[in-house]
Amino acid sequence: MAKQLPTQAQVVIIGGGIVGCSVAYHLTNLGCKDVLLLERKVLTCGTTWAAAGLVGQLRATRALTKLATYGTQLYARLEEETEQATGYITTGSIMVARTEERKHEYDRSAAMARAFGIEMYPISFEEARKLWPLMYTGDLVAAYYFPKDGQTNPVDTCQALAKGARMGGAKIFEGFTVTGVTLKNGAVSSVSTEQGEVTCEYVVNCGGMWGQSLGRMVGVSVPLHAAEHMHIVTKPIEGVYKGMPTLRDMDGYIYFREEVGGLLMGGFEPVAKPWGMKGIPENFQFTELNEDWDQFSIFMDNAITRCPAMKTAEVRHLTVVPESFTPDTAYMLGEAPGVKNYFVAAGMNSVGIASAAGAGKAIAEWITEGHQAEDLWDVDIQRCFSWQDNRRYLRDRVTESVGNLYADHWPYKQPRTARPVRTSVFHDRLAARGACFGVVAGWERANWFAPEGVKPEYKYSWGRQNWFEYSAAEHMAVREGVGVYDLSSMVNFLMQGRDAESVIQRICANDVAVPLGKVVYTQLLNERGGIEADLTVTRLDEDTFFVVTAAATETRDFEWIRRHIPGDAHAFLTNVSSAYAMLGVMGPKARDLLSTLTDADLSNEAFPFATAQQIDVGYARPWAVRMSYVGELGWELYIPTPFATSVFDALMAEGKKFALRLVGLHAVDSLRLEKGFRHWGSDITTDDTPFEAGLGFCVKLDKGDFIGRDALVKQKESWLKRKLVIFTLEDPEPLLYHDEPIYRNGEHVSQITHGSYAHLLGCAIGMGYLENLEGIEAEWILSGKYEIDVEGKLIPAKVHLKAPYDPKNERVRM
Ligand SMILES: Cc1cc2nc3c(=O)[nH]c(=O)nc-3n(C[C@H](O)[C@H](O)[C@H](O)COP(=O)(O)OP(=O)(O)OC[C@H]3O[C@@H](n4cnc5c(N)ncnc54)[C@H](O)[C@@H]3O)c2cc1C
Repeated sequence: MAKQLPTQAQVVIIGGGIVGCSVAYHLTNLGCKDVLLLERKVLTCGTTWAAAGLVGQLRATRALTKLATYGTQLYARLEEETEQATGYITTGSIMVARTEERKHEYDRSAAMARAFGIEMYPISFEEARKLWPLMYTGDLVAAYYFPKDGQTNPVDTCQALAKGARMGGAKIFEGFTVTGVTLKNGAVSSVSTEQGEVTCEYVVNCGGMWGQSLGRMVGVSVPLHAAEHMHIVTKPIEGVYKGMPTLRDMDGYIYFREEVGGLLMGGFEPVAKPWGMKGIPENFQFTELNEDWDQFSIFMDNAITRCPAMKTAEVRHLTVVPESFTPDTAYMLGEAPGVKNYFVAAGMNSVGIASAAGAGKAIAEWITEGHQAEDLWDVDIQRCFSWQDNRRYLRDRVTESVGNLYADHWPYKQPRTARPVRTSVFHDRLAARGACFGVVAGWERANWFAPEGVKPEYKYSWGRQNWFEYSAAEHMAVREGVGVYDLSSMVNFLMQGRDAESVIQRICANDVAVPLGKVVYTQLLNERGGIEADLTVTRLDEDTFFVVTAAATETRDFEWIRRHIPGDAHAFLTNVSSAYAMLGVMGPKARDLLSTLTDADLSNEAFPFATAQQIDVGYARPWAVRMSYVGELGWELYIPTPFATSVFDALMAEGKKFALRLVGLHAVDSLRLEKGFRHWGSDITTDDTPFEAGLGFCVKLDKGDFIGRDALVKQKESWLKRKLVIFTLEDPEPLLYHDEPIYRNGEHVSQITHGSYAHLLGCAIGMGYLENLEGIEAEWILSGKYEIDVEGKLIPAKVHLKAPYDPKNERVRM
């Protein structure tokens, strides 16, 4: 007899792969019993069934590593808990490096792993061959071992999660296709199927490669695309034993695991094959695509190098199944922008088995608590953009995303596909002057400028890259003379209306009810006092506020502000970013240069720091905002786009007299770090309060109520336990990027949030949080001996409570 669909559920999960089942399991574990999972065919029939089942722990960042490590813990106990076999075993894994550069990457990873409590250590080739007897090591540079990594049976593990969810009260319906999601007042209200409708409070899109089209049903961008993904299984091979560790040879694009006495071998090719351009067939279930031995040959060739026994091994089967990948090769979690209570957990980039446990837990906590338990910006769906829903863009990028899993994870690595998407009006002018572009939020941005005769191309390395000296010169031009950078990628919103002031005042921690033309640097906080956004607000007139924020946070900042406008308020938020191009004119000679192009009085008296005026520059009337992210005298010019190139040309012409230098965004980053300016997403996140982040000067507790005020008042009444400080390395050679472990008096305490090179000081610089549960005072901070672990070497570091450059903030007020 057909099952009767309930008419109501609190949470409806779409998709019965491992991610959907994990969300259901964790929701019921957290006490949310009214959960309905709808699967169009049968559980595991999408991509889950085909997985190799590798469960690794180490990921690119601390938060993601924590989620992945939780997977190894949950899968190890799930069988006992549910009495459903999972096939999970702790086999350990080995990772080998074929090049010195890869060894640098893994040495950094090993330092990070140690700090995160994951066992990862170098082993000799002899030890490696003992663990993996068929391995050829003659061409290798290094090998590393993770004793606690595991392998699992994906189908059984998914079934165990489903059983656990049912035991907790969830209902699982197979053979029910979701055909629509209805919204009411911008929030989820029901889902429809051919068998009926279910009203609900929450929907979780766990549709795997169907996730994008499911998102389109409600106008939500879920940017993912399927690509063919493959592995072979051989007949038994002598020397292969049960429980043998996984072997990853990323330089050869491949991995191996034991499978019934033979080897399962698959990988991540540098140029992948997109799939599903014409949609996914209705009857897709446990579907295998046609074998493509040409596409597989790159794996086979490398597999024979690493494991010569593969040459004569008999292949039992080549499995080709589509899996979904995202433009930045990170999965997507969280509440979608624009639709309340519509959650997404999809785009697993072939680590869905390893990540499902953590992803399911994170989503369940998010729904039951109403917010993330911990900052998950790296995988937050709000890092995505509506334009990324473009299928051609996704198809072109997926050819590269797949390979990114195993490619060298170079610092500053830029995508090579699906470019350009967004260009500023200055793009061709910058290109003609030697710009080397990188991508943020789809924008082509000049990261550095190659001098005459040098090709503007990255040569990646873990040491100083080819642009290091050029960027250093740009950095110094801003410190000593004048530089111009294009930051048209900055995002501009207008908040307008009779209630604009009261609405924005409640959203900001700083006082923005200021006189016309005043610019306010402020954070937007959540109820827990955590920093949701970091931006400037300029009052343009009585009812108009100009909000400027970073390109990467366009979606989430717009969404955060929009959601906090009360329904009955006369206040309207508009994204006007395309209306303005932005040039930063910065450095001690900025006033002299700009004065040649304007009759406006730029003196401190007439145009003080943190104010804005609409002035003539050349033949245009931009908003000139006297703020600086690089810590020097300067103005940001917000130029109505059609006028922008004329201003650029005028600046370049007049700039010759001042040795004006074009400056790339790598230099902007090193300049801002030297000045101690924070960056949202790394140095400050939803887990940090302004007091902890050293931004207490932006908090106005006495201005009246605002979001997060109560939490800050409470924090002020007790001891502050954490604080963001700045570190500079005492050795000028080593470089900092992010996540390098920080040691205080020989004990690991935290990691670098973001690092760069302080060219003026002549050493690497980075920020990081320190914690002392008995109260974090300057004396305690300064009394410690600090070292940063770079590639396994502890480098002595100096701690700074204030910016090492211009701590009194005098340069911006020159
Ligand atoms: C060859 C291969 C090897 C892999 N190896 C590994 C590995 O070793 N380790 C690892 O971690 N990962 C691996 N993966 C990746 C892993 O399999 C996936 O990341 C994971 O299974 C994704 O799970 P999911 O739940 O997101 O998607 P799926 O398993 O595809 O589940 C989505 C479900 O949604 C259902 N659905 C879609 N639309 C609707 C609708 N309208 N209504 C109802 N239901 C709907 C589908 O039928 C499907 O069952 C591998 C993948 C492949 C192809």
